[in-house]
Amino acid sequence: MDVLIQKFGGTSLADATTRKHAIKHIQASKREGYKVVVVVSAIGRAPSPYATDSLLALVNYPNGKQSKREQDLLLSCGEIISAVVLSNELKQEGLHAIALTGAQAGLMTTDDFTAAKIKAIETDRLKDELLVNDVAVVAGFQGETATHETTTLGRGGSDTSAAALGAALDAKFIDIFTDVDGIMTADPRVVKDARTLEIASYTDICNLAYQGAKVVHPRAVEIAMKAKIPIRVRPSNGTGLGTLVTGSTDNDIEVNIPDRLITGIAHMSGITQVKIVSQEPAGLLPAQIFEAMAEASISVDFINIFPSGVMYTIPELLSEKAEKILRKLNYQPRLIHNCAKVSIVGAGMTGVPGVTAKMVQSLVNEGIEILQSADSHTTIWVLINEKDLFTAINALHQAFELNDQMIETNN
Ligand code: ASP
Ligand code: MG
Repeated sequence: MDVLIQKFGGTSLADATTRKHAIKHIQASKREGYKVVVVVSAIGRAPSPYATDSLLALVNYPNGKQSKREQDLLLSCGEIISAVVLSNELKQEGLHAIALTGAQAGLMTTDDFTAAKIKAIETDRLKDELLVNDVAVVAGFQGETATHETTTLGRGGSDTSAAALGAALDAKFIDIFTDVDGIMTADPRVVKDARTLEIASYTDICNLAYQGAKVVHPRAVEIAMKAKIPIRVRPSNGTGLGTLVTGSTDNDIEVNIPDRLITGIAHMSGITQVKIVSQEPAGLLPAQIFEAMAEASISVDFINIFPSGVMYTIPELLSEKAEKILRKLNYQPRLIHNCAKVSIVGAGMTGVPGVTAKMVQSLVNEGIEILQSADSHTTIWVLINEKDLFTAINALHQAFELNDQMIETNN
């Protein structure tokens, strides 16, 4: 049987009208001859009553002492409610549908409550259900441990559920339905002429997602890439084709992904830069500092180690905590708050000279100060002041001609 995974996010399920669009897509897939595994997120966004953040608010004590086990049990209800509501509406439309919890769909996880990892998927039950049903609606973002404890996979985890089910069932496609047209060259709220990508590689989309592009979870892209199953990021309200995310070969068929230097721009704000310089040779300073950060569960990024000290970034929310720790260790850290990280991503830049020069030039032309930079084969990052973010992204979008349709042509 040909299986299709279709995942719908919370905004695509927010009310009966938006769910009608979802149902149309599912019906169309059935007509194409697919058995459909629908993966759902919790309905709507806070303050919508069953949205994940609304449920979370019920147990959000200021002392931070909520039990993670019970929190997972609570949050899992959001997706279960969503699965039941949608499967009933599908039945109203005459489809044979069944709602399943993550556990019933066979998602086995580790016992890291609130951040569990999928260990295996036992597909027997799902396959049996698909023999007698058109559609199985599975609650995303959740699974079960070997001892039948309910777990969740971390925020945005429904995409991960969808990709893992796609891999386990060897699906034809993993469709991620969303409230935008697809994956874009930059955040359309920032860049007016940002363009929807028709096709892009797993690697580029994974990098964009890790650097802050929010449409699809990077974990999901990694799973799909490993299983060689294409992802289609599609608009829920509409018939647009969205973005096809794929590799250079899918089921051994060659796929033409356009050659382009840069695929897109991603950004992240709410970052603090920390710099510590010592008068004497730094010696054990970097080791001591990063150990202290790790002990306090502060994840560090953008790390530069130089002979007289270190420089790195942390989430703004943890900057007070980090500063206290560093002062206790007798360091005098210099912090720059309200920074943002802008990344240009594209496997096409590998080995091409002048990409960094172009990036730096276009930022300097706008009078933007670069606080730090780093690069890999496929990504160049700069840290800037958050106040410059809008100007920076627009300047880069223009400099790399990302709004230009011509770059979509193959050579
Ligand atoms: N409902 C969960 C969240 O808000 C999972 C998801 O939507 O992917 O994080
Ligand atoms: Mg999401």
